[in-house]
Amino acid sequence: MALPKNIAGSVNNRTLASIREQGVEPLLAEMSHKECLETTLHFGTHNYHPIDVTIVEGHGPWVTDDRGNVYIDCVSCYSALAFGHAPELILDAMREQCKRVTLTGRAVYTRELALFLRVLCEFTGMDMACPMNTGSEAVETAIKIARRWAYGVKGLPQDRAEIIVAHENFHGRTTTVVGFSSEDNYRAGFGPFAPGFISVPFGDIDAVKAAITPNTAAVLMEPIQAEGGILMPPVGFMKELRTLCTQHNVLLVWDEIQTGFCRTGFRFAWQAEDAEPDLMCLGKALGGGVMPISAVVGKREIMEVLTPGSHGSTFGGNPLACAAAIATLVELDSGLYEPRCRKLGKLLNDRLHSLDHPVVHEIRGRGLLVGVEVVPGYDDETTSAFLRNGILTKETRHRTFRIAPPLNCDEDLIIAIATRVNKALDEVHCKQ
Ligand SMILES: *Cc1c(COP(=O)(O)O)cnc(C)c1O
Repeated sequence: MALPKNIAGSVNNRTLASIREQGVEPLLAEMSHKECLETTLHFGTHNYHPIDVTIVEGHGPWVTDDRGNVYIDCVSCYSALAFGHAPELILDAMREQCKRVTLTGRAVYTRELALFLRVLCEFTGMDMACPMNTGSEAVETAIKIARRWAYGVKGLPQDRAEIIVAHENFHGRTTTVVGFSSEDNYRAGFGPFAPGFISVPFGDIDAVKAAITPNTAAVLMEPIQAEGGILMPPVGFMKELRTLCTQHNVLLVWDEIQTGFCRTGFRFAWQAEDAEPDLMCLGKALGGGVMPISAVVGKREIMEVLTPGSHGSTFGGNPLACAAAIATLVELDSGLYEPRCRKLGKLLNDRLHSLDHPVVHEIRGRGLLVGVEVVPGYDDETTSAFLRNGILTKETRHRTFRIAPPLNCDEDLIIAIATRVNKALDEVHCKQ
């Protein structure tokens, strides 16, 4: 395949050599949206289908594209941007950390890891934590811990442990994890998959009950299925699941990677029903929207099944990421964010509901994790209508557009979002 002309130009000019001579700035500054798109598609694998926009700057809830258009970022990198773009409090902590030490590996102790583990356990009310980098790794870690616990403590026969999961789950992209996804697009062509997972309808307590066998090690679920389309379980489900797991000596594992850290108006979404887990997967916002860092937290007698050499990660718990996470936890511990997210979430919900729009099928969510589901037939045009009105959002499953601004936004921003969403939906409706 011939290279697109602009890319061929860069290659012939030897991009690396010109960066060495001029620095990277001129090349970045001159790259048009078209060149950016073509270069990405030519040299990068096609496992994403991005919105048709090149972002060159981000500050707080705002992002700017290469043509100077400004948008409110309503995706917030799937909840990872807890404090919006380029948050000073996280960057300051990281700048200080950069003066000391940034990466050591786990062959040694660091003060930053020690402090991170301690404050994470305090923040979550759990006993021990295992640091990783990405959400998928946290989920994989939880699966390993649950299985080891099942064999070593519960006494299941070797290699027979079962984990119950929910239809329409999203727990990441590793082969084990997509193996128990119900989304064909995540699975097709990637088998064979790991056995030992049983999937039941989300929010159906009787289905979970029926799926429990003597070999059940754990139930792994999201308190709200965010990627699934901001799907809420029925009221009481979380609490009933906690009771059921206790009755059957089965671990309850909440994946709070997207719902955690105050976004839903609770420190963790399970707190809405006081359904405390045995293990909890964390990620995304934990790094303050700057660093990738994830963790599994849990009760001591379960977490202790991990022994030296049984699990690990090169970058897991590195001092720089720990510094970002400590700053995040200190900020979120202020107690300001839960009431603010509840209040702003209610305002957002009220404003969106008052639109009573023919294009809207349903509005769902909790706190600042809100999904606007549009009626069938209206989805294709909708993303660009949002963009034209200064709203950056992308649909999840079920034609649901995510509205998840940073946790530190204000009433004015929420009102601006609702106004712009309304205008965008008007335009979509008129076009049909
Ligand atoms: C994003 C997400 C993951 C995966 O996290 P990665 O960092 O992308 O590996 C897992 N579970 C939930 C609920 C998520 O939203």
